[in-house]
Amino acid sequence: MKIPFNKPTAVGAELANIADALARGHLSGDGYYTKRSQQWLEDRLGCRKALLTHSCTGALEMAAILCDLAPGDEVIMPSYTFVSTANAFALRGAVPVFVDVRADTVNIDERLIEAAITPRTKAIAVVHYAGVACEMDAIMDIANRHNLLVVEDAAQALLATYKGRNLGTIGHFGCISFHETKNLISGEGGALLINDERFIERAEIVREKGTNRSRFLRGEVDKYTWVDIGSSFLPSELVAAFLEAQLAHGDEVIARRRAIWARYYAGLSALAKAGAFELPRAEYGDRVANAHIFYVLPDSLATRMALAAHLKARDMLSVSHYVPLHSSPGGQRWGRASGSFTVTDDLAARLLRLPIYYGITDAEVDAVIDTVKAFYAARGFDQ
Ligand SMILES: *Cc1c(COP(=O)(O)O)cnc(C)c1O
Repeated sequence: MKIPFNKPTAVGAELANIADALARGHLSGDGYYTKRSQQWLEDRLGCRKALLTHSCTGALEMAAILCDLAPGDEVIMPSYTFVSTANAFALRGAVPVFVDVRADTVNIDERLIEAAITPRTKAIAVVHYAGVACEMDAIMDIANRHNLLVVEDAAQALLATYKGRNLGTIGHFGCISFHETKNLISGEGGALLINDERFIERAEIVREKGTNRSRFLRGEVDKYTWVDIGSSFLPSELVAAFLEAQLAHGDEVIARRRAIWARYYAGLSALAKAGAFELPRAEYGDRVANAHIFYVLPDSLATRMALAAHLKARDMLSVSHYVPLHSSPGGQRWGRASGSFTVTDDLAARLLRLPIYYGITDAEVDAVIDTVKAFYAARGFDQ
């Protein structure tokens, strides 16, 4: 039994949609399937505007342009995140300012944000790790009091909620990923959600190479021209056609992932209670996660590495996660650290993600659970 860490699966009409896109005679961006996907995101999530992009990285770069940063401006973010969260702002000449995360959610510690604010601070970029919501009420309150923009890196958080609101629709901007490792996929792909009316027109221009082509296509101007900075952030219709089929089955995919997550949790909770490792929280009250990641936290880096090696020897792949940005060469060159990183460094050393994807079977999940149990049985935990 070979169990990869992730395996992309078609869940509906992906291939038929791609053939249909070709039959419609339009394969570049902003065709039928792009519009349908954007409409789905707007209706289902409740954002003012959704624009498909070629990646979440692209959506973050668009958000950074729309934040209108000057070189030396600062953007506060967690150290424990993917490089794209920081890179998008560094590309504008801004300084990513890293703060520590909370041990319970692996998200930015909102209690540390105000100490990181300086006269140059322009935005807060929050990351909803594993699709678990950040403390959005506190974060929006800080942002309002200090007149800061909020970019939600909701790459992992599609269809997860905070107090009933979809993640990505609470800050000024939300950035979603459809990379093949995420819950709903198109290979590469993403979307920028715009929740503040003021930014919509400029967002369309930035996405269309800095031109007013979107207005031209709607017949609002009689020719289109270069009006602002921008780049090509559109996905091809081939990608949007694949995505549209995934979105149509979005709730089903998340429901299956939640069942897999619950199976791991139930299978491993006795070991966790015995002190073998820590598990993520199963419930967060008024926050509903989307089962993007299932992780365990063994007691040390050495145990994590031994457990990963034990799984790998049985053809089961588990993966750690980010090298904290404050200690990465890029973070040290382009970023600034605010405070200490005790929690980030501790989680980064111990966190191990187990295989979770739509197509994994219950028998495969059970095999991973049994393999973890066997590893700990050999270390004196007989659960
Ligand atoms: C996956 C991910 C990204 C990047 O998404 P792409 O679509 O691959 O560009 C950015 N931020 C976070 C937190 C992610 O998990």
